[in-house]
Amino acid sequence: MIYVDNTILVSFATCETKGVLRHILGRSGETDSAALHFGTALHQAFAASLREESPTHAFAEFERSYRAWAEDNIFDPANARSWTNASALIAYYLLTHAPDSLPYDIVRDRSGIPIVEYPMEYGLADGITYVGTLDALVRDKNTGLVYVLDHKTTSYDATPYYERQFVMGSQLSGYLWLGQKLVEKLSLDEPITGALINAVHVRPIPTSPRRCPVHGMPYSQCGIQHLEAQLLGPYIRTQAQIAQWEQQAKDLAWRYRRQHDEAKVTGNTSLEAAWQEGLFNNACQNCEFIDFCRQGRPWNSVENLYALNPWQPWVDRKPDTTSAPHR
Ligand code: SF4
Ligand SMILES: [Zn+2]
Repeated sequence: MIYVDNTILVSFATCETKGVLRHILGRSGETDSAALHFGTALHQAFAASLREESPTHAFAEFERSYRAWAEDNIFDPANARSWTNASALIAYYLLTHAPDSLPYDIVRDRSGIPIVEYPMEYGLADGITYVGTLDALVRDKNTGLVYVLDHKTTSYDATPYYERQFVMGSQLSGYLWLGQKLVEKLSLDEPITGALINAVHVRPIPTSPRRCPVHGMPYSQCGIQHLEAQLLGPYIRTQAQIAQWEQQAKDLAWRYRRQHDEAKVTGNTSLEAAWQEGLFNNACQNCEFIDFCRQGRPWNSVENLYALNPWQPWVDRKPDTTSAPHR
């Protein structure tokens, strides 16, 4: 069985060479892992909060997961993800976003377990399983409609341009596809209407002595109140759009499997034929492997150039997943 997730499919859609380096050879050129560490800790804290654990308990989750790493790696207190800044903004978020105050309730399964940080897997194609973790399944308190909820961090206020990724992107389409399977598995009464994004502002808390026109006091006193979370959406997909996502996801997963199987048999040399779509779609600009490609793709030196850091989010998943026969 081969597992794929949205990250793998996006890599292969962006550039096959990138997909091979990152997801077949398991190499990584990223040195800044602050976003990953912070994001993981944030999700743990928010999950605890959505499970109605106290803000103190939820914050303790965040501290346990993040404090030591942040204090060892980020020394500038003005950095948005320094322990000083991050702890203040997460504490403020937890205190101002108690479950009672949210516009939605958490959907529970038949045994009453809240669907929060819920790992799922479902057969995408023969021998290929698609995996993803739903941050939460929620029910709008006013309308009763059910949505997939996903937490995102952003430095800036959301704009229509920022939202385009959710209007169209494969990640939410994949979650909605998985969500439909979950509705079937749990025999939920309602279908899933769409997806909501909880966009949390992560930036340095204002500390200026200047007077804030909104709160009538120095920013050093009201600064934390300028960091918000915006609930964006709902983002909807039609059945036709989800079916189209599924078809394209299958094609990309097959490309991944072809490379996966070939690498097993022949080693690195057959990878030389991997396409470089990045040359044509501007992906090289932000690619962690640009030095490799600049050198003419020396496949035999990959081990010396990049650390081994396999992407395997399906390892260590909790056993309760939505497994199902392949279609
Ligand atoms: S640098 Fe460009 S061509 Fe090379 S792997 Fe990255 S996106 Fe692909
Ligand atoms: Zn203010």
